Amino acid sequence: MKTRAAVATAPQTDLEIRDVELDAPRADELQVRIVASGVCHTDAIVRDQWYPVPLPSVLGHEGAGIVEAVGSDVQGFKAGDKVVLGPAYCGRCEQCLAGHPMFCVNFYDRNFGGGRADGSKSFSDDSGEISSHFFGQSSFAEHTNVVASGAVKVPDDAPLDLLGPLGCGIMTGSGAVLNVLQPQPGSSVAVFGTGAVGMSGMLAAKAAGATTIIMVDIVPERLEFAKELGATHTVNSKETDPVEAIKEITGGGVEYALDTTGVPPVFAQMTKSLATRGHGALVGAAKLGTEAPFDIGTLLLSGIKISMVVEGDAVPQEFIPRLIALHAAGTFPFDKLTKSYAFEDINQAFADSANGTTLKPIIVFC
Ligand code: NAD
Ligand code: ZN
Repeated sequence: MKTRAAVATAPQTDLEIRDVELDAPRADELQVRIVASGVCHTDAIVRDQWYPVPLPSVLGHEGAGIVEAVGSDVQGFKAGDKVVLGPAYCGRCEQCLAGHPMFCVNFYDRNFGGGRADGSKSFSDDSGEISSHFFGQSSFAEHTNVVASGAVKVPDDAPLDLLGPLGCGIMTGSGAVLNVLQPQPGSSVAVFGTGAVGMSGMLAAKAAGATTIIMVDIVPERLEFAKELGATHTVNSKETDPVEAIKEITGGGVEYALDTTGVPPVFAQMTKSLATRGHGALVGAAKLGTEAPFDIGTLLLSGIKISMVVEGDAVPQEFIPRLIALHAAGTFPFDKLTKSYAFEDINQAFADSANGTTLKPIIVFC
């Protein structure tokens, strides 16, 4: 069928909205009409080839839409179902079977391979094939073929124009907190980076009952907004040493911490700010090959724990409905992070995310 898609063609270059051909969904796929798709920092770094997804490519991995066709092997979906799209996973490897599909041993190939496992791509135009199946979905398109394992059915009255980011950025921050760090009520949490991922982590920490929530960033407006949303303390790490500030606020060190920046010196700050036997998690993405300094001499004695976390270590089919329920209950107001953009304005959405004026842009297709 014919559809329209935003195509990434080269690093640091605007996406091009093009008329493209979409092939038929395979037996394990759904064809979905995308209603809205969030824009994540990961779309920008893949456009810029930090991860070598073959270009040209249709990116987008926070899609929400309506099922139009169902592959012959897919169970549990019918045309007309509303879906939020998460990453693809194989469902058969030891990590998937152990309940950790975001660590699927086939995760990289399924989500960053540029097409299906057999090498085929869904999109093409006169210039040739265009990479598809980014995070199993390539949601910057009006219609797309989606790996059914990544789709999460949501209620008929679910607001699709809002929910797409639950499939990545919001799930990543909140999942790292709720599934991995698991802060106790009354505990202290520090979050480095106040983008959509960090703010989701903050909202989750608050929902979990943490009573000291310290947000660290270098953009004053974002820190101000973090305070409005419930941070108890903010630290501008351009002006103040965040390790000293966190130790002072917490009386020695923070119990749980999250690095959403992927910046090596920030990761080091996170490890140094932890209390004895504290638990820190890294979710911020860095270029493949990036190394971070880490004082193993001093830190051995502290007994700290560090986790590397993909997509909040969530099972999206279980976790996303839980986030929707928390949102409905008023305890997880992630809608305050979002701003809608028309499809034609997708490059403005990328620019506003990069310059810090919008936390979580959502492209709404009409
Ligand atoms: P974002 O760019 O909106 O937010 C990053 C924040 O970090 C910004 O507010 C920025 O000002 C702040 N920052 C940058 N350098 C800093 C420094 N030196 N000190 C303090 N703060 C600093 O991005 P986002 O959408 O919130 O995503 C955060 C990261 O998570 C990105 O790297 C993204 O690629 C990654 N990500 C990872 C996963 C995963 O599964 N692990 C999933 C989604 C996104
Ligand atoms: Zn993402």
